[in-house]
Amino acid sequence: MRSTMMEIPLSLNHLLERAGTLFVGGRIVSRLPDKSLREHSYGQWHRRTLALAAALQELGLRKGERVATLSWNHHAHLECYFGVPAAGGVLHTLNLRLAPEELGWIAADAQDRFLVVDDVLLPLYRQFAHLHKFERVIVFPFTGAPVPDEFSDYEQLLAGADGEGFVALPHEETDPVAMCYTSGTTGRPKGVVYSHRSTVLHTLIGCLGDHWGLKSTDVVLPVTPMFHANCWGLPYAAVMLGVTMVFPGPHLHPVDLLDLMQLEPPTLALGVPTIWMSLIQTFDAAQTGEPGRWKLPAGMRSLVGGAAVPEALIRAFDRHGVWLLQGWGMTETSPLATVSYPRAELRDAGIDERYRRAALAGVPAPLVEVRIRTDEGSDAPWDGVTMGEIQVRGPFITREYHEVPVAEDKFTPDGWLRTGDVATMDALGFVRITDRTKDLIKSGGEWISSVDLENALMAHPALAEAAVIALPDEKWGERPLACLVFKPGQQADAAALGAHLLAQGFAKWQLPDRYEVIDAVPRTSTGKFWKLKLRERFAR
Ligand code: ADP
Repeated sequence: MRSTMMEIPLSLNHLLERAGTLFVGGRIVSRLPDKSLREHSYGQWHRRTLALAAALQELGLRKGERVATLSWNHHAHLECYFGVPAAGGVLHTLNLRLAPEELGWIAADAQDRFLVVDDVLLPLYRQFAHLHKFERVIVFPFTGAPVPDEFSDYEQLLAGADGEGFVALPHEETDPVAMCYTSGTTGRPKGVVYSHRSTVLHTLIGCLGDHWGLKSTDVVLPVTPMFHANCWGLPYAAVMLGVTMVFPGPHLHPVDLLDLMQLEPPTLALGVPTIWMSLIQTFDAAQTGEPGRWKLPAGMRSLVGGAAVPEALIRAFDRHGVWLLQGWGMTETSPLATVSYPRAELRDAGIDERYRRAALAGVPAPLVEVRIRTDEGSDAPWDGVTMGEIQVRGPFITREYHEVPVAEDKFTPDGWLRTGDVATMDALGFVRITDRTKDLIKSGGEWISSVDLENALMAHPALAEAAVIALPDEKWGERPLACLVFKPGQQADAAALGAHLLAQGFAKWQLPDRYEVIDAVPRTSTGKFWKLKLRERFAR
């Protein structure tokens, strides 16, 4: 017997058309370089996106060819998210925080044919232009200034294109739509290529109540850059539901974000923990200095991920009525693979238990299979204690890398992705990330979790940031070293910090041997703590 269902491929084009018919009045707000706000309706955005797709086809873009973007978060970037796939192309978001040499290498590896670049980022483009020849460079006049003659003008291209008569290219649901590169903190960056199918499935799941629960009444502020793992899939989900989007443009300083929140109060904001750490410090400091300047939007929730979310941060935001929802994933997993939401079993749990759960990476998303593989090669029991590497499998998890023939260390022979993250899983399926494999500290044959130490340290009232690394040690193999950033005017000595950690349940042998006070923890290109830099500085 065969199923009687229609075989219509899952398609991003459907989401685009849906927004263009159902949500024409919806709002897309972008902050411009001069900090003013520019608003488009979804109807305008839909017309512009079709015009972009038509223009790309007129320029000769063929199926599967890459169009790179070098852009901040704004409406035109969202046009590329849908316009490039509608034209049959593959959107390749370049990370504007990478070094020029790396950008050139990545663009060449992806064989990007065209580039769409914000005018404010032309100086960066010029630094790597010699490393990869884009056939055409299309400049988005973000500032409104005239586009230099040597480039194509994004607005003129759209104005000259026949968007009305545009018909999206037919495709299979497995055809590629977008690609992102891994950060390359271990070796060269590697390309991950998403399909219509993987993107639509990831999008649908993002809207589940027991996930991050996006709904049409939301107003979303994506602080996560659109080049960071597709902004965690938010742009696709927002378009599917016609959600109001507030794009911060290039203004990501906490003061700017807090100002923007007063103008366009979000109900949901996305970002890595480091961003929210500086935001809450700025906010709390201003409460004493300049009362009334800012309010955190009442009832706002925030999807935070990309690195462990300290319980202290969750508590700090909850004091102002903002709930942080933690997700775990990676470029290879589209990216959201687990989300920490209050399961039915936790309905009657007290607030401390809710905080504790919120500080975990969460429960596997539907369609994602998770297993924890121990060093002995067996599956760890779901006891919340036994550690192993998280391995994942599912329809929006990558099975290989772009033009990397063999990556055996990244995939198991039976087809699971090796994440390189070490974790435990408890009886309710909550994953707790202990560390990245390379960050775990092995002392006298026992593992110490740097993440646990950092989270506990950051719960100390004097500390703004803490990053813990392994220090080579003749006797024990490795010992923990804690790099500390104190809040302005505050301090605590090693004895006080040790007592604080002991009170939090750490054993004496797990305490850091050394504390170093630093000005700030270095950040990676996606804004996470960059422990490699600290290792280079202290662990030689
Ligand atoms: P990179 O961090 O290398 O730039 P990704 O953005 O793909 O690249 O990051 C994936 C990694 O981020 C994961 O393998 C994991 O180590 C870390 N990560 C993501 N979310 C969390 C989380 N909620 N808790 C702890 N670590 C996380």
